[in-house]
Amino acid sequence: MACRGSLPYVEEPCCMKCGKPLKIEEQEYCRDCSRIPRAYEQGRSVWIHRGNVAQAIYQFKFHNKRYYAPIFAGEMAKKCGEWICRCGIETIIPVPLHPARRRKRGFNQAELLARELGRQMQIPVCTNAVLRIRNTKPQKKLGSRERQDNLKDAFAVSGQWNISQTVLLIDDIYTTGSTIHRIAKLLKKAGVQKVFFLTISIGQDK
Ligand SMILES: [Zn+2]
Repeated sequence: MACRGSLPYVEEPCCMKCGKPLKIEEQEYCRDCSRIPRAYEQGRSVWIHRGNVAQAIYQFKFHNKRYYAPIFAGEMAKKCGEWICRCGIETIIPVPLHPARRRKRGFNQAELLARELGRQMQIPVCTNAVLRIRNTKPQKKLGSRERQDNLKDAFAVSGQWNISQTVLLIDDIYTTGSTIHRIAKLLKKAGVQKVFFLTISIGQDK
């Protein structure tokens, strides 16, 4: 795919770090990003997490609608392709699911998205660069502090992985950013220079 497409939310004021739409135009960062310095460089999402988008992602994850993956990835490439090119991404990495949860669901939605996006953008994908070594509670029922604690020691960077300088993390939804922040921190510790993220949807600033 050629490097084109525009940034989402260009007409909306959004957080300079995570891309979350902001309620107050004068702000530079959303509530979460201004409170916790983020380990990643920047992130983008295609849509705000609401209405039909939220429903479609739910169907994709919990009702085995795997065939949504190329459609979602196509929108990621169309809306954020130019941004991906500008970031100089060398490797696309999906946020991993714990093997037990992956077995239960039958697939990792982030992995399907990463593979599709990699194919469409012609960027290598590495599905085992980051491992989920501890099964955690679902983040959505937890507060910000609990989310951080819940993720403690949940991930590891694989010793087998040949480190890339610039990576793009892929997930389905970005909420408070705890997961992406945690993984970015580990990747940087392992020697990665720049970490970006891209998700289908993003929550709104509180
Ligand atoms: Zn933010």
